[in-house]
Amino acid sequence: MLAAGVSIAALAACTPETPVASPAAAPSPSGPQTATSTPAVATTTAVPAPAASAAPPSSTPPSGALSQKYSLSDPASQWVIVNKHRPLTPLQFAPADLVQPRVELAVSGEASLLNSTTAAAAEKLFAGAASAGVNMTLASGYRSFQTQTATYNGYVTSRGQASADTASARPGFSEHQTGWAFDIGDGGGACSFQPCFAEQPAAVWAKANAFKYGFVVRYPWMLHEITGYYYEPWHLRFVGVEAATDMANRGIGTLEEYFGLEAAPGYL
Ligand SMILES: [Zn+2]
Repeated sequence: MLAAGVSIAALAACTPETPVASPAAAPSPSGPQTATSTPAVATTTAVPAPAASAAPPSSTPPSGALSQKYSLSDPASQWVIVNKHRPLTPLQFAPADLVQPRVELAVSGEASLLNSTTAAAAEKLFAGAASAGVNMTLASGYRSFQTQTATYNGYVTSRGQASADTASARPGFSEHQTGWAFDIGDGGGACSFQPCFAEQPAAVWAKANAFKYGFVVRYPWMLHEITGYYYEPWHLRFVGVEAATDMANRGIGTLEEYFGLEAAPGYL
């Protein structure tokens, strides 16, 4: 069980204490992104699902097997892609169907909520873990725009923006605001939100089995140049069984690659 103060720190640490100095995060708020040149993508204009509109299914990385079933831009879509290039639209989106899943909770309040689809899938995921003898807790779920603003601004005040950007998503840029994502713990706490969580049974089990329940480990090891975040073995994202299984079968680690979207290593 996390003490209140601990859980606040844990929330913010969802983008983890980085194992090394963070070369990936664009250190300056205005630092141009050079990895991929995107002519006119304003930060406030969510890239409107380029994979869906611009690219024919046959010529792009998105699954040859799955058609574009769901929007990549609508935050209410299970395929919405939120990253440092793709804020939620609207920025202050809040899910209409937040519920508290019947799983072991390590938090209370809004952080114990998920959207209804994710909550139902989480209940099955946790039951699957339990039946394998793995202890799993819900460590952090939904986070409102207001909460994210307070968290992020706290980091900016204490460390400056460059450092804040390595520790906390900017308001409107967090997957936690969609209700489709949550962080797991194992009830122990020693490695919660720490790199060593990767070796804990809950993370090992989730990495191997989460796809069966429709979840992906959203920020895999060594793919931060694509996702914008260092490895977070605790952060799971619901995309549905079909897509998660397809990604697992094909060895595709990130949603950006799966849906043929540009890498988003830092804010634009
Ligand atoms: Zn998270």
